[in-house]
Order: sequence, then C-alpha cells, then structure tokens
Amino acid sequence: MTCKLLLLPGDGIGPEVMKEVEKVLAALQRLGVAKFETEKGLVGGCAYDAHGKSISESDMGLAMAADAVLFGAVGGPKWDGVPYEVRPEAGLLRLRKDLGLFANLRPAICYPALADASSLKREIVEGLDIMIVRELTGGVYFGEPKEIIDLGNGQKRGIDTQVYDTYEIERIGRVAFELARKRNNKVTSSEKRNVMKSGVLWHEVITALHKREYPDVTLEHQLADALGMQLVRWPKQFDVIVTDNLFGDMLSDVAAMLTGSLGMLPSASLGAADAQGRRKALYEPVHGSAPDIAGKGMANPIAMIGSLAMCLRYSFGLGEAADRLESAIAHALGAGLRTADIKGAADAVISTAQMGDAIVARLEKAA
Ligand code: NAD
Repeated sequence: MTCKLLLLPGDGIGPEVMKEVEKVLAALQRLGVAKFETEKGLVGGCAYDAHGKSISESDMGLAMAADAVLFGAVGGPKWDGVPYEVRPEAGLLRLRKDLGLFANLRPAICYPALADASSLKREIVEGLDIMIVRELTGGVYFGEPKEIIDLGNGQKRGIDTQVYDTYEIERIGRVAFELARKRNNKVTSSEKRNVMKSGVLWHEVITALHKREYPDVTLEHQLADALGMQLVRWPKQFDVIVTDNLFGDMLSDVAAMLTGSLGMLPSASLGAADAQGRRKALYEPVHGSAPDIAGKGMANPIAMIGSLAMCLRYSFGLGEAADRLESAIAHALGAGLRTADIKGAADAVISTAQMGDAIVARLEKAA
C-alpha cells in the first residue's frame, strides 16, 4: 500500500516536531506497514517570506492531490504585522476551506503516567478517553454578515452571524455517531437551544438523525455551558461529544488541559467521503508554533506523532499500526521519559529528538 502524504511543517516548533514524524514514517516503512511517498511544502509565515502568501497555489495543488496532509504549526511574532489576508493562519483556513474539512476530531486521552500533570485530581482524569467532534466550516466564524459598521453617532457595531443548515448538522452528526459505534457507543450533543435558534435546529436535526439512522447509539444532549462544567467535574462520563464550531473551539481546549499539556494533543480534520469512501484529511497537533521554545529542542513531539497515528487510522485504515504507535508513545511515557512541558518535580528532561527516538525504538522493538 502506498500512502501519499504532504508534509507542511510550518513555523516555530512545527519543523522540529515534523522531523520526528519523518523518523516514525521511515520506521513504519522499514517495518513493512506501508510505503510512504512524502512531499514537503511551505505554509504560514515561512510561506509568506518565500511567496508573499500564506500558502502558494502549487502547495495547495499538492494538498489537493495528496491522500492526507500532515500539518505542523504556523505563526509567530515575526509575522504579527503582515496584512490580515496573508497572515500565517490564513494558510490553514484556506486548506480547511478548499479541502472541505468540516469535521474536526480532537481526542483527549489522559495517559496514566501523566495523570499528575493535569490540574485536576488523578482519579478524575486517569484513563480518560473522550473524542470531541467539532463542526469546522460553518457557524459564527463564517456566517454573513460579518462586519464592523459605523453607526455615525460615535458608535460602531460588530456583527458575527451564527448560521447552520440542516445538511451541515446532519453530516457532522453522522461522523460523531459512526465514531461512537467504534468506541463506547455514546454521543453527547451540545448547543445552546435555550437562547439560540441555531441551537434549536441543531437539537432537532441530531435527534431526528439519531432516531432515523443510529438508534443503537446512546444519545444525550447537554447545553454547552453545562457541558463545560461537566467536563471539569466528571469528564469520564463522556465518550463522543459533537458540537458546533464556536463551542467546539472552546470545549476542546478545556478538554485539552485535562490531559496535562498542549504538547500531547493530536487532531484530525476530515472532509466528505467520496464514492470509494476516501476523505480529504489534514492532521495536526492542537498546539501552535510555540515561539517561546522554538529552536531549543524542547518541544514535545507526541501531539504531532499522535496526529500521524490518527492519519494511519482514519486515512489509511491502518488501525493496528496506529494502535502500535500509540502504545509506543504510552510505553515511552510509562518508562518515565519526559519533555520539559510534562515533567514532574523529580523528572529528568529529554529533548524533542530523544523523545522521537525513544518512540521509534519502542515501535521497532515491539515488532
Ligand atoms: P502555543 O500552542 O504555540 O503555545 C502555548 C504554550 O504551550 C507555550 O508556552 C508553548 O511553549 C507551549 N507548547 C505548545 N506546544 C508545545 C509542545 N509541543 N511542547 C512543549 N510545549 C508546548 O500557543 P500561543 O503561544 O498562543 O501561540 C503561538 C503562535 O502559534 C501564535 O502565532 C499563534 O497564532 C499560533 N498558533 C497556531 C496554531 C496552529 O498552527 N494551528 C494554533 C494555535 C496558535
């Protein structure tokens, strides 16, 4: 099996963590898991420096042609003053839009070895394994009108519009129900139907979809504010959470911190399935370019390597290889290996490259 990947390392720590993914890809190939054909492109600030755009048309072409895109991180103070439409994040938004990536999957897994790195008590988070499914291409971030208007009386008005159509809610709902069937068979849908019309529709559409196509899956509804509270009170009650773009943005960051560090969190963004069941897909760590530690060999590569595990599972059907990679990560953590972001008071600290090497070594040994 040949897997065509486009690597977009980006800025800051992006290239550092992507380098570790390249080591893992080489190891997986040596182990005969698959053949990986990789190309590399520029995105974010480095693309702006090279082309005056946050992603070039030729790199967009490579992204469209690839089976999947692995994305590092973009941005940094160097590009704070560049024009809004070519700011580093615009490259990521363009990729999401042109690839039609409407479903953002963010797992929050708390490895037992790291339970003490969470701000919550060990018993609340140890063994946590939840999946947040966030709608990514609709809602208030994209709805029109979206503007600031001058009211002419010394006042201005800022307007964003929350808008969802039935098909957008149905397709994200399907992703959540399908995932739940492969996990613990429970979906929690979240909106604010008590104060938002889009929430009323969201609730109605998810309820009807469940009744029509997924009656075997347990469905519950929670208002987004209550769900935020429950996430920090008793997160293990959840399996799959499905919610809109805005609430998903916030709730997935809350869930992220339950697991201890941004450096641990992978994500997947998926498009619609084609006739062969293949989806356009982009995999990226949740963290940004971390300019404060860039170039110091301190970045934790696990979020990026975990994103590759998601890619193996969701783009290539290599679930068993993904399991092996995830258990190599758990093994490295279980052996007490720690980058600076996840170290306890008594832990020695290893570098980005040492963590990558340890995961590769375990992967090879386990095979
Ligand atoms: P950040 O995620 O880059 O960093 C937040 C904190 O977490 C920092 O202290 C950083 O050192 C630490 N951290 C992040 N990833 C880490 C890792 N892998 N290992 C160890 N420590 C890690 O968020 P920020 O500081 O708010 O943003 C920095 C830049 O990144 C900004 O330009 C922002 O716009 C951009 N950003 C990009 C993305 C993306 O590319 N998807 C996401 C968020 C932020």
